[in-house]
Amino acid sequence: MVHPKRPQELFQLFAATTSLPGVGAKLAAILEKRVGSYVIDVLRHLPIAIIDRSQKPPLDAVIDGAIATFDIIVVKHDKPPRGVRRPWRVFCQNDTGSIELVFFHARDDYIQRLLPVGERRIISGRTEIFNNRVQMAHPDYVVKPDEMASMPEIEPVYPLTAGLTPKVLRRAITAALATIPTLPEWIPPSIMATNNWPDFASAMRTVHAPQNEADLLPNNPARARLAFDELLANQIALNMVRQQAADTVPGRIFAGTGTLTRALMDNLPFALTKAQTNAIAEIKSDQESGKRMLRMLQGDVGSGKTLVALAAMLHVVESGAQAALLVPTEVLARQHYQSLNKMLAPIGKSASLLLGQGRTGSGRKDTLSGLADGTIDIVVGTHALLSENVAFADLGLAVVDEQHRFGVRQRLILGQKGNGVDVLVMTATPIPRSLAMTAYGDLEQSRLNEKPAGRLAIDTRVMPNDRLDQVIDGIRRALDAGKRAYWICPLVEESDKLDIAAAEDRFASLVRALPAHKVALAHGKMKAPERDEAMQAFRDGSAQLLVATTVVEVGVDVPEASIMIIEHAERFGLAQLHQLRGRVGRGADKSSCILVYAPPISDTSKTRLTVMRDTEDGFVIAEEDLKLRGPGEFLGQRQSGVPEFILADLGAHADLLSLARTEARRMATDGTALTYSDMLLSLFERDSAVRYLAAG
Ligand code: ADP
Ligand code: MG
Repeated sequence: MVHPKRPQELFQLFAATTSLPGVGAKLAAILEKRVGSYVIDVLRHLPIAIIDRSQKPPLDAVIDGAIATFDIIVVKHDKPPRGVRRPWRVFCQNDTGSIELVFFHARDDYIQRLLPVGERRIISGRTEIFNNRVQMAHPDYVVKPDEMASMPEIEPVYPLTAGLTPKVLRRAITAALATIPTLPEWIPPSIMATNNWPDFASAMRTVHAPQNEADLLPNNPARARLAFDELLANQIALNMVRQQAADTVPGRIFAGTGTLTRALMDNLPFALTKAQTNAIAEIKSDQESGKRMLRMLQGDVGSGKTLVALAAMLHVVESGAQAALLVPTEVLARQHYQSLNKMLAPIGKSASLLLGQGRTGSGRKDTLSGLADGTIDIVVGTHALLSENVAFADLGLAVVDEQHRFGVRQRLILGQKGNGVDVLVMTATPIPRSLAMTAYGDLEQSRLNEKPAGRLAIDTRVMPNDRLDQVIDGIRRALDAGKRAYWICPLVEESDKLDIAAAEDRFASLVRALPAHKVALAHGKMKAPERDEAMQAFRDGSAQLLVATTVVEVGVDVPEASIMIIEHAERFGLAQLHQLRGRVGRGADKSSCILVYAPPISDTSKTRLTVMRDTEDGFVIAEEDLKLRGPGEFLGQRQSGVPEFILADLGAHADLLSLARTEARRMATDGTALTYSDMLLSLFERDSAVRYLAAG
């Protein structure tokens, strides 16, 4: 991992966890799995709950399952005879009643010493009521009355892992807290005061000593301060990336003449959506400015990104330069090549195609020379475009489709194949604004949040699974009327045998229920040829119903399919439901989607289904997804390359992110960034934007 220059004061925090008293190599290895390898990682491992030991109920009024603390006298030990496998019991009592302490696999003298008969002890742990008797198995604490102080009344609960006990982790955290140096304050006093934030060291101590449930919430001042630190560091890092790009590559002015773009628009069989018009204008203004364009175009599948990209490409061609469209797969490259040429033909232009070596035979040589001498002005290609032997006469614009499938480096390589090349990246995974700001803060954003006119809305309904018969009757009628439908079964884990079995069962029952129609089955565990055959049958209409696990997410395009049933919809994330539903509503028919759930479902699942019913807007859905799941679980995350935060919660800290953004800009201009950036980046940005920086 690449670290920025680390200020001296921080050395302690970046020491290996083994530098902490009580942490040896073995524990360090366990910590590394769940927590991290450095002292700072231990500090950033925050509690997720609390145990409250302040309840000291009378023994005759104990609530089953509650954590409680008792002041008791030890009455008697019931020690299991040697070789007999039963627990060791210790009977205790006080004025309010009696309690049995239960120890499994007890070591003889240890229990004896811990709880001597006739003595008074304070015990704390989870109580149970068993046959009307109060019990406590393995108390968390057994202390002498004069040692009460050693037992915390409120105890933080941390995420753990095998081999990591609360006690051991607690000791490591306490030791880590003691290493925090005095650091200069990087947050301006006004912000500190307005928000009532503590300094960094106090904040760290506070978050590890929550006093009540409210202290665990994201708006707790100590938590908020640390979240802000992390977001601020992220924004500073992104500013640096942006700065670097701007410094090293001055932009060019592509003035354009308007001839080609106007001809394109005049020949369109439809009117642009307002979102397309805006995006085209934003891009054009970047192109005409002396600044280098680094812009992201977001929009659901079908929102019309290709046309926007084409307008941008024609603008640079009008300006005498070349444009390239980089796509992740050959299939997509061919698809784009065809659709671009369909739009280009009426205006007397054409695009070329460049695939990997040996894929286009002799045509490849011509394409390469055409790019080098400038006779080709628009090219569509795969990674092949990035190879060393591809040279352009004058590349002015690089468009990158499905950009999350390329690294930052690849994006930059294409940008380096010309002089001050403008870069437009496109993505069909709508990313919530807050995430886009953190992950792609170096990119300006354009959004196509509107569907082309004439697209019919998808009628979405939510139903409990006890109405499945009704759903099947409906499907039968629809298939009788010549429609085609998807039936989606969940497959959460690629290898989940139960889910596969459920899909196969459903397939069998639908085959029985729909004898007049052909039903096909496709799931991830089938052999590829069989699965392809099923998909092909559905595509050409010889099968009318396709029962599938989420394999249909990846690239089935059957415009004739107008119905989608999603079974166990409560098990899918919002982004996934949105992707799935996007498979219908592509043809001329009015489409519908039925989300079938198995009650009872959680409030979160209920909200998710309601969101799906109420909107088709991918951006709205992405925002809701972020709110409901939290950024760590955001489904599109891995796909979209959004960094994970440890202390910040983008769902809850959206306002802090805007503040961090403003603050990072200010710090960049007034020079404070120079003073503090090393510190902030080392402390908070080791995993996301720094990696990003290093890659650039
Ligand atoms: P995306 O790349 O965003 O998935 P496309 O650019 O492939 O979407 O567009 C999907 C389809 O919609 C194409 O057939 C395209 O010609 C058509 N289309 C694009 N813009 C409009 C519009 N404004 N009105 C009607 N149809 C449009
Ligand atoms: Mg497209």
